[in-house]
Amino acid sequence: MNLGIDLGGSHIGVGLVEGSELKYTVDKFFSQDDRKDIENAIVRNIDELLNKILVENNLTLDNIKTIGVASPGTVSDGKITSGNLKIREYDLKSRLEKMYNKKITIRNDGKCAALAEKKYGSMKNYDDCVFVNIGTGLGGAAFMGGKLLEPKRYSGFEFGHMTLVKDGIECTCGKKGCFERYCSIKSLKERITKTLNIDSTDISGQFLRENLMVKYHDEVQNDINDFIDYLRIGICNLIDIFEPEIICFGGSFSYYEGHPVLNKLIEEINKQNTTFNDTKPKIVTAVFKNDAGIIGATID
Ligand SMILES: [Zn+2]
Repeated sequence: MNLGIDLGGSHIGVGLVEGSELKYTVDKFFSQDDRKDIENAIVRNIDELLNKILVENNLTLDNIKTIGVASPGTVSDGKITSGNLKIREYDLKSRLEKMYNKKITIRNDGKCAALAEKKYGSMKNYDDCVFVNIGTGLGGAAFMGGKLLEPKRYSGFEFGHMTLVKDGIECTCGKKGCFERYCSIKSLKERITKTLNIDSTDISGQFLRENLMVKYHDEVQNDINDFIDYLRIGICNLIDIFEPEIICFGGSFSYYEGHPVLNKLIEEINKQNTTFNDTKPKIVTAVFKNDAGIIGATID
């Protein structure tokens, strides 16, 4: 049995994972107080959830083989830098290793999700794969000859921060015109709620996808078309760079399987003269949806 820890911008989830199966989960949202001292709150909440999951399943730490963390932001040598969590080079790996006396693996959440899809999911039977995680942000990973590509410095594969628009919208990273400012689900939600003049705070991804984009289809058509156009450009750039056999969409965009937006995107990508070579990759969504990160965190 393994433990996967999903460290998010607003909450922490801990899951009991066996192979590709997520057996049991517990989670907790950060409180206002947690935010004041987020570094200590992270380890305190992880410890609380980890003990809870062990007790509720009659297990002890001795029953746990691997503990892995799926983290937002950049992970380098176990140290996390995340704008969302407001932490810089936070050495979570050392802190957890001291607490549990076990080897801890920490990877960017997009990479964890990609590993789960590569080992057990939709990319299982392919060697050259690109995984694009689209949710609050946009990130991903690539496999060549079945191997995850990992640079020595930093995480790399910051797909979301490729410049797509000259002098475009300012990004959280400080640059302007980044891919994710135009193609994250967060940016799509912001645009659509602005057009409809409604508050975006309590709008869930599901409500956006199944209600707003359907009911107000005509009013938000331009926003949707722009989203598809920018996404098509970004994805076709990735196709030209990596020549993948398959592209898998993860994060909340994985729930767009069968949705007109994803169907249209695939149709656009498959048109002539959108990529250098005319042989297009297969385009699919993540089998494990939003659980891919926590499952992938436990893969060595
Ligand atoms: Zn950026």
